[in-house]
Amino acid sequence: MRTSHEPARPAVTDPAAAGRAPAARDQPGRPLPDHRRLGRDLNLFATDPLAGAGLPLWLPDGAVIRAELERLAAEEAVRGGCQRVYTPVLAKRALFERSGHWAKFAGDMFPPMRVGEEEFVLRPANCPHHALVYASAQRSYRDLPVRLAELGAMFRSELSGVLGGLSRVRQINLDDTHVFCAPEQVPGEITRAVQSVQRCYRLLGIEPARFRLSRRDGGDGYLGGEELWASAERHLAAVLRDLGLDYDDAPGEAAFYGPKIDVQVVDPAGREETLSTVQLDFNQPARFGLGYTGPDGGRHRPVMIHRGVLSAMERLVAFLIERDNGAFPPWLAPVQAAVLPVGEQHDEPARRVAGRLLAAGLRAECHPAGDTLGARVRRARHRRIPYLAVVGDRESSGDQVALRLRDGRRLDGVSVGRLADEMSRQAAGRHAGLGFG
Ligand SMILES: [Zn+2]
Repeated sequence: MRTSHEPARPAVTDPAAAGRAPAARDQPGRPLPDHRRLGRDLNLFATDPLAGAGLPLWLPDGAVIRAELERLAAEEAVRGGCQRVYTPVLAKRALFERSGHWAKFAGDMFPPMRVGEEEFVLRPANCPHHALVYASAQRSYRDLPVRLAELGAMFRSELSGVLGGLSRVRQINLDDTHVFCAPEQVPGEITRAVQSVQRCYRLLGIEPARFRLSRRDGGDGYLGGEELWASAERHLAAVLRDLGLDYDDAPGEAAFYGPKIDVQVVDPAGREETLSTVQLDFNQPARFGLGYTGPDGGRHRPVMIHRGVLSAMERLVAFLIERDNGAFPPWLAPVQAAVLPVGEQHDEPARRVAGRLLAAGLRAECHPAGDTLGARVRRARHRRIPYLAVVGDRESSGDQVALRLRDGRRLDGVSVGRLADEMSRQAAGRHAGLGFG
């Protein structure tokens, strides 16, 4: 059983069995990308024993990647008909007693903090808060579905020994939506959630290894009767079939409050992990006494769907670092362009080029001529910067750059206007390629 609805932890699996051989395996002798090493090497994140293991500090370059992914999550949520909310990272222990987390999940939560007569805990999930947002207004069937989105922090009391990088952490920042809908709206809402996952994966170039239908097993760690569970599992299976998606059954992998669809991916080392999840929950609406007025004037119980599209920022960024070996697509690259003057006399025109790229909303740096051009090119290449714009005599007199792209192409005499336009087009469209085709 999964004790909460965050993605399951990585498990080593046979990549061939998962339907996709990882590219890194095809290049014997090359070390597999490791997001911890690349994170240090590229200054993306750091940990400090004074702050604690499993509590990474997002450095400026890593924060750019996360901010871009958070922007994508926010746009996708609005596009998917969601409303944004913000709720606190802690609450009275009573909230999680009501939700069932305290009974089923307390072992993974940080211990309570006493303040006067009250006890507070760091939240293990934000569903209980969202249930309260739903309950803050009278709801009619005309208001449904209510879709509440928040990219929020939640906490796990992991022991220090198992923590590492971004993949095992004590605070996760999860792209999470809770849909409250009428029972007859469930198939449509699950379909919509899976389609949102598919849209984001296409954009990110992520190929799902497989879909998994995670059911309950014979254990007693679950909330709710077997009949509700069977019906929820049938709903999820029907949507997967209607979408033409093959899936595997996974007894024992459900959340404690309901079954789920897990979207599994495989990293370059062949480890399979869950990235996105869609979960069906009849239990929490009952525990929180949620209701809406139906067309018959009577009070009815909504169904809750937990939808995690982009997953935890920590997990997604770790996955992308390893998959791209640190060479992110231009829209995610912490620095998109480095402007390199050939000699000191070109520093000023190079600064003007960088200034124009910055003014166009692009992330550009000028690397002035303190040492050789070759050394600066090597450093920029090491950081996997997609565009290197070299400014020498010819370029500074003609408002141009000599462009060196990360993929090895060299284009001479590119006007600064064209450089800004092409870079903006690639970034705004979130394209995987570098453009200039
Ligand atoms: Zn949830």
